[in-house]
Amino acid sequence: MLIDTHCHLDFDRFDPDRDEVVARAAAHGVSRIIVPAINLDNCLTVLRLAERYEGVYAAIGIHPNSSAEWQDSWLEQLREYAGHEKVVAIGEIGLDYYWNRSPKPVQHQAFTAQLNLAHELDLPVIIHNRESDADVVRLLQESPLAGQARPGVLHSFSSRWEIAQQVLMMGFYLGFTGPLTFKQADELRRIAGQAPLDRLLVETDAPFLAPQQKRGQRNEPAYVAYVAERLAALHGLDAAAMAQQTSANAMRLFELPDA
Ligand SMILES: [Zn+2]
Repeated sequence: MLIDTHCHLDFDRFDPDRDEVVARAAAHGVSRIIVPAINLDNCLTVLRLAERYEGVYAAIGIHPNSSAEWQDSWLEQLREYAGHEKVVAIGEIGLDYYWNRSPKPVQHQAFTAQLNLAHELDLPVIIHNRESDADVVRLLQESPLAGQARPGVLHSFSSRWEIAQQVLMMGFYLGFTGPLTFKQADELRRIAGQAPLDRLLVETDAPFLAPQQKRGQRNEPAYVAYVAERLAALHGLDAAAMAQQTSANAMRLFELPDA
């Protein structure tokens, strides 16, 4: 069994063949898929998908690139959505200084408010971090999630080993995606190989970040197997053992029900 812990299954790139994509994933052993929301509008779409497909679970949250209009009153709506039985996390939330679509203080406000919401609801968070290492680490350290049993995951981890160490120390997990398989990714592979086995997650971030084997194509949950294989080799395990390990980690972090 494999679990794709981050897939934007609601995006329109999947409109033509969403049923087939989910069926193909299942045929490749990817029996569970977590779909994170990015704004208030698509929260509902994500929840509908979780209702439609048994193996699909939802995360509810406002992405930093959608936080320009953030108001604390949105928390009420998020709290209501989070009450849905298939919501397993708050996400994706975080900071993005690459696109900088919202002013930094607004990004900080939205991120902090949602970290607090996750703590209040006893849910882990799914964190997006692009070129904002120092502030992400600082806001996590200041948040009530630091040191909790299942604080969350640094999604599509791509920072330095020092950053990995700091978030691991707070109890966070590291999510690895297609870039782990890219030819130039030796540094990322070194980090993934050093990270503790019980904190590793695999994800696709589909439709983005297709692995080397499918480079240039639309990514999809079935391809999470390529990430797991690469991660297995880095830890000297066979693919099945790594699939089992990362699935157990995802089940524990997101408290997914047994099949
Ligand atoms: Zn994403």
